[in-house]
Amino acid sequence: MNKTNSLNEIAASLAGYDLQALRVELAQDFIHQLLPQPTDRETLPLRAALGRVLAADIVSPVQVPAHDNSAMDGYALRASDLNTQGETRLRVVGTSLAGAGAASPVGVGECQRIMTGALMPAGLDTVVPHEFTRMEDGWVLIPPGLLRAGDNRRLAGEDLALGSVALAAGRRLTPSDLGLLASLGLGQMQVWRRTRVAIMSTGDELRAVGTEAQAQPLPEGCLYDSNRHTLWAMLERLGMIEVIDLGLVPDQPEALRLAFERGAREADAIISSGGVSVGEADYTKRVMAELGEVLFWKIAMRPGRPMAIGKIRSGEREALLFGLPGNPVAVMVTFYAFVREALLRLSGARPEPLPMLRAASVKPLRKKAGRTEYQRGVLSRKSDGGWQVEITGNQGSGILSSMSQANGLVVLGHEQGDVASGEEVDVLPFEGLI
Ligand code: AMP
Ligand code: MG
Repeated sequence: MNKTNSLNEIAASLAGYDLQALRVELAQDFIHQLLPQPTDRETLPLRAALGRVLAADIVSPVQVPAHDNSAMDGYALRASDLNTQGETRLRVVGTSLAGAGAASPVGVGECQRIMTGALMPAGLDTVVPHEFTRMEDGWVLIPPGLLRAGDNRRLAGEDLALGSVALAAGRRLTPSDLGLLASLGLGQMQVWRRTRVAIMSTGDELRAVGTEAQAQPLPEGCLYDSNRHTLWAMLERLGMIEVIDLGLVPDQPEALRLAFERGAREADAIISSGGVSVGEADYTKRVMAELGEVLFWKIAMRPGRPMAIGKIRSGEREALLFGLPGNPVAVMVTFYAFVREALLRLSGARPEPLPMLRAASVKPLRKKAGRTEYQRGVLSRKSDGGWQVEITGNQGSGILSSMSQANGLVVLGHEQGDVASGEEVDVLPFEGLI
């Protein structure tokens, strides 16, 4: 990963803003400035490239379709032979089948039986679908007023012109893209290598879940580490991340240092959870600050107020750091609000804004102006076809079941105050994220 501007240079651009209550949009902008460009490419076969990011424009080496061809089963004809006043009678000569070579020539006043995808015979420009015609002794009869020149004919290159950019660099390859690349005859392509992301959970109270965990009661005051699993899952869903699991790290300076240094050596980015809260009695923040350039923010959002952002170094190597809060819902919300798009960009992708739905809030919502709130909601269709959303019960940032019950996040912007019942709000459907 190549080096970028120093954190302090970029941080200077935030001077004058309230870093104890940083707006979500400002924090997002700042993070974008921190992101280096990807540098390593690899060539993959078509199917292995699904979800990966194109590292170069795909310029069409052919035209698609390669030749003019028929869009229907019917008869290929010359539009100039069509009788505008009465029925047209054309003599049928030969058949043009899909996959066959050039058809035999067709004279004036003649037509040719043609199948979908078959080459248009030279000189013919229009196809009449079979179901609109009648046959009489080797002649086809076509009613007047049915056709215009060029109807039911696909032109060579109408899908993709020779030399045009079929897919631009930065594209995350979708199912249709795989088909499109195949239609160009391309069986392999250049993509950016996977972005390596190291994840860790910090906190002495955490225990790892194991296959026999159900049988082992937790010691008093302890809880199972859930964050590493939600983080792993959200990263997997991005499609171009290689996850390095640094495990559970206790609140001990040496253990934290080793884990962060390993992350800096092996990964492009480190995501930790826990230990960044105000007044946190642990060593996480101190170790982060020692090993790199790190800013500790309080973001004007709920959940997810505290966050550490910066870079961690080990020798010549450095990795971006996203120090997320420990509460499980805050981890997911801050990941979607900041980390997801940053990792897509770091992976060479040009992310589109996430699609939001406007939905009527079933109940009134309490919302303080001056922070962005992400409430867990269940989207459903109203009888009139529009969307409505109902907040799941307890919105506490430790209530992970509120995420599992929800199918979207109600995003209430910085300026927004209380919401009346029936008022429309923005909802980020989880389907768009995963
Ligand atoms: P912290 O940000 O470290 O103060 O943690 C805030 C809350 O989140 C505490 O109740 C922690 O026990 C909890 N927490 C921290 N890390 C995890 C984790 N990995 N899995 C589940 N809960 C966590
Ligand atoms: Mg903690």
